Amino acid sequence: MPIREKNYWLETVTTPPAQSARDLPDTIDVAVVGAGYCGLSAARILAKRGVNVAVFEAETFGWGASSRNGGMALTGMKLPVPALIKRYGRETVRKMYAASLESIDCVEQIVREENIDCSFSRCGHLEVACKQAHFDAYEESSALVKREFNHELRIILKSELRGEIGSDIYYGGMVDETSAGLNPARYVAGLALAAQRAGACLYDHTRVTSIALEKNNGARKFRVQTSKGAITARELILASGAYTTQATPALQKKIIPIGSYIIATEVLPAEFARELSPRNRMIYDSKHFLYYYRLTSDNRMLFGGRAAFFPETENTVRQSAEILRRGMISVYPQLRDSKIEFVWGGTLDFTLDVMPHAGKIDGMYFAAGFAGHGVAAATWFGAKLAGLICGDANDIPFDGIKFPAAPLGLRSGNTWALPLASAWYRILDFFT
Ligand SMILES: Cc1cc2nc3c(=O)[nH]c(=O)nc-3n(C[C@H](O)[C@H](O)[C@H](O)COP(=O)(O)OP(=O)(O)OC[C@H]3O[C@@H](n4cnc5c(N)ncnc54)[C@H](O)[C@@H]3O)c2cc1C
Repeated sequence: MPIREKNYWLETVTTPPAQSARDLPDTIDVAVVGAGYCGLSAARILAKRGVNVAVFEAETFGWGASSRNGGMALTGMKLPVPALIKRYGRETVRKMYAASLESIDCVEQIVREENIDCSFSRCGHLEVACKQAHFDAYEESSALVKREFNHELRIILKSELRGEIGSDIYYGGMVDETSAGLNPARYVAGLALAAQRAGACLYDHTRVTSIALEKNNGARKFRVQTSKGAITARELILASGAYTTQATPALQKKIIPIGSYIIATEVLPAEFARELSPRNRMIYDSKHFLYYYRLTSDNRMLFGGRAAFFPETENTVRQSAEILRRGMISVYPQLRDSKIEFVWGGTLDFTLDVMPHAGKIDGMYFAAGFAGHGVAAATWFGAKLAGLICGDANDIPFDGIKFPAAPLGLRSGNTWALPLASAWYRILDFFT
């Protein structure tokens, strides 16, 4: 019998959700579109610094990718370091890499300060090599990261891999002890409560439908139309991630929404779970069309991947369950008889250059393009945007880098060409 769609993480949230504010005021200092990590992290800082801030969320708080992800707070960026240096230069990339490390500290600090019960743990991540050539590249890659960023990555030979993972299909691995794991839905629920406690007004089921810039005697402000009425804001933060709509067309043109799916097994006996992942790492493989997986704190194997490229629908979720189960068994044949109890999907915000971006678009602050690094990055970018609004110096190394538009057919709201992109990545995985 096919498994019904159900997000495991949401089942584990025990705190009551943040309360939605009631009436919309006429004016506000800052309006934030989207209550995921980015929007809530920005709102928390703004409120703490005495700014009058309102967050508008079309669904429930944390409804988007922030409650659906793998819960891996990862160092580094999606693109390999040599490609980054070639594109942006050594100094900028040093700042970018430092930001990726700082973003995990930022999550850790919030979890600690706000007392968020989300199983945050510096368990490290393990990248596993699907081909000998991928493993051979790890040596060079770790030396480069050490030289350029003074950051340690540890190579794991194939013969040592059993100490890291209960699978024999890989050619070796690379460990980064700085990465962390957490329960994403508990984290975003805690972040919403923290923002609210600090004084931010959060509005759920309130969709922003249009935004107009108004200028009056040299003063500028935004007229924000929502499904619950209109409001005027001095500044705006777009934190709508992969779920960005036509309400903000300039940003929508830049975002490529890509589906990702996850299954979770039944609870496994503790000893069996330790055999699968002896150090409880956040694990992902070296393919473009990668699998990512980890144990949950109640010892389920949570296994994700881009089983379908399209954003989540009932169909893609159902198909993904079977594709991912086959993938999981190819990695861990010992899970052949384990029951799959959960499957769900979510959408990631990719950009054409596979980079995160932040700054201003049409006069509004924005941050987007976190792809599979958003747990830590979205939190950090949100806090940074809040700092900019409060007058902090702009030290975001991703602001001002070229931000290409997505080609038609890959854009949010118009994704007919996604299967072509998917086919391209499968070809790359075959040949590289
Ligand atoms: C299946 C999956 C697995 C992933 N795994 C990982 C991982 O292990 N590690 C990692 O670092 N990253 C991972 N990611 C990515 C990560 O989850 C995201 O990058 C991150 O959550 C983005 O946060 P955000 O706040 O920018 O956006 P979101 O959390 O997507 O929030 C955006 C919100 O904006 C709202 N919204 C949109 N438009 C409007 C509007 N007009 N009006 C009001 N509200 C609006 C949406 O409803 C949504 O709730 C994964 C993503 C998915 C989908």
